Amino acid sequence: MSQSYYSFNSYLKKKFKSRIQRISLNAGLNCPNRDGTLGIEGCYFCNEKGFVSVEDSQISIEAQIETALPLFKKRFKSDKFIAYFQNASNTYASVEKLGTIYDGIKKFPEFVGLIISTRPDCIDEEKLDMISSYTDKYDVWIEYGLQSVHAKTLKFLNRRHTFRQFKNAVKLTAERNIKTAAHVILGLPHETKHDMYQTANALAKLGINGVKLHTFHILKNTPFACMYKQGDIHLLAEGEYVEIACDFLERLPSECVIMRLVSNARDEVLIAPFWMNRRQKVLLKIEEEFKKRNTRQGFLAKRQSENDF
Ligand code: SF4
Repeated sequence: MSQSYYSFNSYLKKKFKSRIQRISLNAGLNCPNRDGTLGIEGCYFCNEKGFVSVEDSQISIEAQIETALPLFKKRFKSDKFIAYFQNASNTYASVEKLGTIYDGIKKFPEFVGLIISTRPDCIDEEKLDMISSYTDKYDVWIEYGLQSVHAKTLKFLNRRHTFRQFKNAVKLTAERNIKTAAHVILGLPHETKHDMYQTANALAKLGINGVKLHTFHILKNTPFACMYKQGDIHLLAEGEYVEIACDFLERLPSECVIMRLVSNARDEVLIAPFWMNRRQKVLLKIEEEFKKRNTRQGFLAKRQSENDF
């Protein structure tokens, strides 16, 4: 759809010359910020039921795939897929257990890629060496949750990891020919536009391969839901998000893959804002905003000095 930014679909078309669809798989793993290792409250925005995923973590990866494949083939008219381990922290287990989980895709020749979503403090060289063994056959990505490069924001979100840990994880991952991506939230409480631009500049400087963006939103049964009800939190309006998303993309290099620009959440857990679930409309507005500006992704990208972040 878009020529103004390098979408994940464009990347996949260029690389595989055919339609590729992601299939979300639930490995049933936990998160150290929930199981008591780092904390029990989790990140204050996180409600795992907010993930859009159709799988049941109680069933094996093979069984999830056997159920999903025929449905996805029919619905998307596609015969090549990427396995997407999305829920919680998908490197939070022993190397042996992780190998068994990821190996679940091997008997299905339809898979051409593997995306693993995790925290930057849930990775080490041994796990990365194991994951890099999949790069022979698959396009392999690790998505690290970052949200912001600012320590004050990470603390406010109760992330319980640092930007330094993120940078180290990205470096070790890239050294092994595994592609790296960062999750970033725009419109976080107390963040200025300048703060968000610093996050974009820092990711550009790191040479990250992909970025996933979404607007800060409130899910039920989270600490932020209480703060929101008390009126302590401002959420971006659709127009504000469109402008900031364009500002952010202008600062990323044109070769950085935009893996997501607008997320959605299940209606039953989303408190606000509801505009984010009208994804196509928001994407169209972003495209229109770029046209109006006569700019595109990478328009302002430049390598920043160490001191910029
Ligand atoms: S690290 Fe991820 S899964 Fe864990 S609490 Fe935070 S958002 Fe939720």
